Amino acid sequence: MENSTAMKPQEFALVSISELGSSSSSSPSSPAVAMFSAGENGAVELRFQPESESAAAVNVDLQAAKLFKLGPVQSVCISEGSDASKEKLYSSGLTMHFKNEEESEAFHCAFEQWKKLLAGEGKCLPNGELSSSKSKFDDKIEPSSAKMYFHYYGQLLHQQNMLQDYVRTGTYYAAVIENRADFTGRVVVDVGAGSGILSLFAAQAGAKHVYAVEASEMAEYARKLIAGNPSLGQRITVIKGKVEEVELPEKADILISEPMGTLLINERMLETYVIARDRFLRPNGKMFPGVGRIHMAPFSDEFLFVEIANKALFWQQQNYYGVNLTPLYGSAFEGYFSQPVVDAFDPRLLVAPSMSHLIDFSRVKEEDLYEFDIPLRFVASVGTRVHGLACWFDVLFGGSTVQRWLTTAPGSPTTHWYQLRCVLSQPIYVMAGQEITGRLHMIAHNSQSYTIYLTLSAKMWGPGAEQGGIIQSSSCKLDLKEPYYRMSQPQPYAMAQDQQPHQQLHSQDVPIDSLDFEDHDLIPEPLPSSGPKITLAEYKSSGL
Ligand code: SAH
Repeated sequence: MENSTAMKPQEFALVSISELGSSSSSSPSSPAVAMFSAGENGAVELRFQPESESAAAVNVDLQAAKLFKLGPVQSVCISEGSDASKEKLYSSGLTMHFKNEEESEAFHCAFEQWKKLLAGEGKCLPNGELSSSKSKFDDKIEPSSAKMYFHYYGQLLHQQNMLQDYVRTGTYYAAVIENRADFTGRVVVDVGAGSGILSLFAAQAGAKHVYAVEASEMAEYARKLIAGNPSLGQRITVIKGKVEEVELPEKADILISEPMGTLLINERMLETYVIARDRFLRPNGKMFPGVGRIHMAPFSDEFLFVEIANKALFWQQQNYYGVNLTPLYGSAFEGYFSQPVVDAFDPRLLVAPSMSHLIDFSRVKEEDLYEFDIPLRFVASVGTRVHGLACWFDVLFGGSTVQRWLTTAPGSPTTHWYQLRCVLSQPIYVMAGQEITGRLHMIAHNSQSYTIYLTLSAKMWGPGAEQGGIIQSSSCKLDLKEPYYRMSQPQPYAMAQDQQPHQQLHSQDVPIDSLDFEDHDLIPEPLPSSGPKITLAEYKSSGL
């Protein structure tokens, strides 16, 4: 869909810039940042901002600028420029020194892209923004939601929260390092790089080059972190921008990403992962992780049910400072039951074996992630009151050497995702051996989350039930964006820390040969031709 929108600024860190032909004393070379943006006057601007405060920034009018390669990591930009501090116009050449060839390629790519926009694909709007096609991201996501989302991830404290989930980060580390063969000499794209940790892991595993794409301000921190680890950093290029919008100079052999939100699908970042696959991955390239599964089972938890129902009791007061609150009781009751509960629960609360829904990241279409309609069928193991549906997920790193699952199952070491429970305001009664059927219908919305519709049904039991076959059925509508975090705050962090050294390493190490056949069937994953010839099996708890 063609639409007008702002073209997002893009930045590149340069090892140095210096004026062409100037003596080193009048224009010393200095590290700088090159920034493409739509300027206030509507012009497309390329600005060179030296790190040193004494050196003045140089603005280049892209329309008049030309870029030439002097060498693999050196280029010169010839332009009509102006000294930002003195408003002085002059014709100049700036020599740029890039960190490596890939940075140079990425800069040349961006230069061409911005020029193209100027040449007609984009027009300057009166407000100074540049018109261009809306990206897939902008088409479906409400700008205010995106703004909050990237603001959240732009803060180190939230990245730290994920890094300190040692089950999560340790499993990624193990999966990468144990599968060096999949990374050594390969081009990698880190989709939503955050702090850049997965890029650094990929570089440790011998990647030829890693493109770390990150849309939030965290990209700056990632640059800093990567620069501080130079032996790895020289093979990593941070690209600040949305996966849906940036251009990369070459195709990737493998994508690495951590796109999982609560219930796997919250934040709608799986769609970004799939778009990255279609835009950046070479045919038959690998994805780390390659598949995800949502697991579901009915649960019984009288205590949780009463806790939620009791929250609304406040509104049953008829004399609250002389005011009758009961007109709002129904709405408050409904409101509390529309919040999915996020916490870690005892797996003994489950009343039937779980079932799962598989998402194959290497095959699924982006549009297939807009809506999930999952028919449910369980057989109750015990007679009890069913209070709702418990859900969790896992993802598989289908490495050529080792298959490793990252699981968020109840009873497994707790992660920052915990588990999720949809609670019915009207519980249903079941007997042992009885069938529970239903439907989990989830529809994506433009605030980077999903509306969940759940129905659970069971045949009535007791006197007279056999004749009529009467069904008891209970439904609820929930917003995945507004969960009820039931954990007491310090607990998850303390637990995750304690679990770090041993649990993450013993757990999901599955030698290829021992994979069961069910998984073989599920994952016909393509392997790089050089790899062993074997068939392989499969807002974070952000408050967003
Ligand atoms: N890879 C890091 C961070 C994971 S959190 C780690 O494992 O620790 C997901 C990151 O993806 C966030 O930093 C978020 O800002 C980024 N992200 C989400 N959607 C994106 C998009 N469309 N384009 C670029 N980055 C995105």
